[in-house]
Amino acid sequence: ASSEVVAAAQIPFLAKESFPLCMQSMYQRLHVDAHLKHNGRLQLGLFLKGIGLPLEEAMKFWRAEFGPKSAGEAFDKKYAYGVRYNYAKEGKRTDYTPYSCMKIIQTPVPKGEAFGCPYKTLSPHELTETLRGMRVGPRTVEEAVGKAKGHHYQLACTAVFQGQHNCICESAISHPNQYFTESRKELKA
Ligand code: SF4
Repeated sequence: ASSEVVAAAQIPFLAKESFPLCMQSMYQRLHVDAHLKHNGRLQLGLFLKGIGLPLEEAMKFWRAEFGPKSAGEAFDKKYAYGVRYNYAKEGKRTDYTPYSCMKIIQTPVPKGEAFGCPYKTLSPHELTETLRGMRVGPRTVEEAVGKAKGHHYQLACTAVFQGQHNCICESAISHPNQYFTESRKELKA
């Protein structure tokens, strides 16, 4: 987990700069639909907690994103519990940690849902199109799609990280929060 505190207002910028593709996709889906299903809320919510978004800021973030469809009381009734739950303020009060790549990759993704690892869930064509829209060159796109086809999803993600930051990773990406932390380090260096 990062030691820096992140505000809700910084999320759009940080998403663009330093979120791995899984979190970027979920964030985009949430933003466009003003909704995200349970598993996505867990996956993205715990990731955001891990990057240093405190509970009050998380509440602000989710309230604003759900706002167009579920404002005020509707949000409080349906979703506020889930936000507090991620921060262990409800239920068993277990301190939930953000999911690793392995856990995300192994969780089955029902059709039409936005969670999971896009290097696994997208077709080679969809992945190519998605990566073309990111800050990476054609060689990186080709390398990442090749790795994804070979079921090496984390290596595909690592290739994209390297392409985006113009660096060589010491170790492969194995956690979305590792992607974020290392990205912030590279971009500040
Ligand atoms: Fe996310 Fe990990 Fe997949 Fe990268 S390899 S997109 S960090 S789940």
